[in-house]
Amino acid sequence: MPRPRRRSRKLNTRVCRVQPDVPAIHRAFDYALPDALARGVHVGTIVRVQLHGRRVRGWVLDAGVVAPEVEGARLREVLAVVSAGPPPDVVDLCRWAAWRWAGPLARFLRAASPPNTVPADVEPELETAMYPPASHTHGALVVLAPADDANAVVHSLVASEGSTLVLDPDPARSARLAAELTDHGREVIELRSDRSPAELSAAWDRARAGACVAVGGRTAAWAPMPDLEAVIVVDEADESLEDERAPTWNAREVAVERSRRAGARVHMVTPAPTVDALVALGEPEQRVRPRWPRVTVVDTRDEAPGQALLASVLADELRRVRDSGGRSVCVLNRRGRARLLACRDCGELARCELCGATVQERADGLICSRCDTVRPVVCLHCHGSRFRAVRPGVARVRDDLAALLPRASVAAVDATTTEVLDADVLIGTEAVLHRAPPGRPVGLVAFLELDQELLAPRARAAEQALWLLVRGARLLGPREAGGVLLLQTRMPKHEVVVAARDGEPLVVADAERARRRALGWPPFGGAAELSGEAVAVIAACDALRGVDTVTVLGPVDNGKRALVRCTTVDELCDALMNIETAHALGRLRVDVDPRRA
Ligand SMILES: [Zn+2]
Ligand SMILES: [Zn+2]
Repeated sequence: MPRPRRRSRKLNTRVCRVQPDVPAIHRAFDYALPDALARGVHVGTIVRVQLHGRRVRGWVLDAGVVAPEVEGARLREVLAVVSAGPPPDVVDLCRWAAWRWAGPLARFLRAASPPNTVPADVEPELETAMYPPASHTHGALVVLAPADDANAVVHSLVASEGSTLVLDPDPARSARLAAELTDHGREVIELRSDRSPAELSAAWDRARAGACVAVGGRTAAWAPMPDLEAVIVVDEADESLEDERAPTWNAREVAVERSRRAGARVHMVTPAPTVDALVALGEPEQRVRPRWPRVTVVDTRDEAPGQALLASVLADELRRVRDSGGRSVCVLNRRGRARLLACRDCGELARCELCGATVQERADGLICSRCDTVRPVVCLHCHGSRFRAVRPGVARVRDDLAALLPRASVAAVDATTTEVLDADVLIGTEAVLHRAPPGRPVGLVAFLELDQELLAPRARAAEQALWLLVRGARLLGPREAGGVLLLQTRMPKHEVVVAARDGEPLVVADAERARRRALGWPPFGGAAELSGEAVAVIAACDALRGVDTVTVLGPVDNGKRALVRCTTVDELCDALMNIETAHALGRLRVDVDPRRA
């Protein structure tokens, strides 16, 4: 049989390793790099290659492979150079993130690349600039009041030389910051998702030259500046800094890791620090008490049965605000996340003795919805043994409010409401907090059933509850404006309630830190939730049971869900590299540091 003819290829042909832009492909492949294309190709460059008969985009992970996976002469060639891509240090950061959140590398490389093409053969010319020295020369955690202007603090943290990255989940505030810094003569790069692909690509290209301040949301964490000196994360507890889709990467964590690698300072500016912020940065520089609005706590165990949601104090406040021409906002989250059980005798809520989450009644007792601990059906407060569910909905409470305030207009709001009425009283799920129409001052923000948030069966329930209170407090403005934050709860001593009442937000992070350390929860241990098709979840669990550092809980729900725990985050991430093959069997979502669980 005649040997197939091959084109002769020089022995010194460069070989590069390319990660295809195909999420289902979890590995890279080697390609020969024709001399005609070699100029400008380095780690991160986006090229076009052939894969399984298709032409696909991909990123160069190694531009000079020493030992190709197949003999050099049999390699396919790179077809074209498409665009400049993330610089080598950001490619490395993407590899770390793919390990940290057990996700496809291509997802992170795509987030780190310009949406449109940027010529690859033009190397950016590095810029330098000097400004007056920043007031902070090392990383700091700055705690301010909910209504304080974070931008004023951010100004003082921007580096005097090199580049600064500012991650802010609030697009309006970061647009203001960009305008202010530009007025001060700074070169500002805006990488917010509300900009067009062309604008974002041009901004990305400019960022490669350095000596700038890049401002944006989650995705700006991957901005390609070569001379990073400082990273500033504003409102690090905000959920939008984390991707809801798996891989559930968090921009705060990426910022911390990137700063560590680049030797840059990292700052966080927030009214409510998370445990993660405390662990990353240590104690805040000054424990000054920020000024929260006035907080009124209503212990609903004292209210008559059936009236716990509309306590008399609330009715008085609603009338006071209406008479002064202001607006009231009432929050009642009803997303079926927590099924609360209250003692019929004393009104106390049934909670887990170990972790404090809500419990559900089962034949053999009360079972914790977070850590699965079971205890007898007995009230811990009065030893009563009869419980009832607490669950009125937004629509009914709206009618009750309207009856209570016959001269006021009352409107219900949720995430699906298209037009929010200019009513005296707005009642709704937490969506109401960012949907109140402007124009009238908000004089009262009332959380009708805060316990729904405090006891939610989620690892970060307390931090998320405090964050809701921050958002409520921001609607009220500074304390001088006279607004009231009203909290209805059966747990007036809960740390979230105490933190808001006393203007001591660190009370929550301190309590959470102790609790999570004791239970080995993130960031003190590794946890991931696996979910999806049973065949894939079960295969992943089987693979993980073979790793001796791993504890697998489940699967439950007919094999559709399982929880994986390790004593350290590193062990967890290493272990999750063993489930690659399970992805091929069916849909499998890996949620590292799950919000639920
Ligand atoms: Zn528990
Ligand atoms: Zn009781």
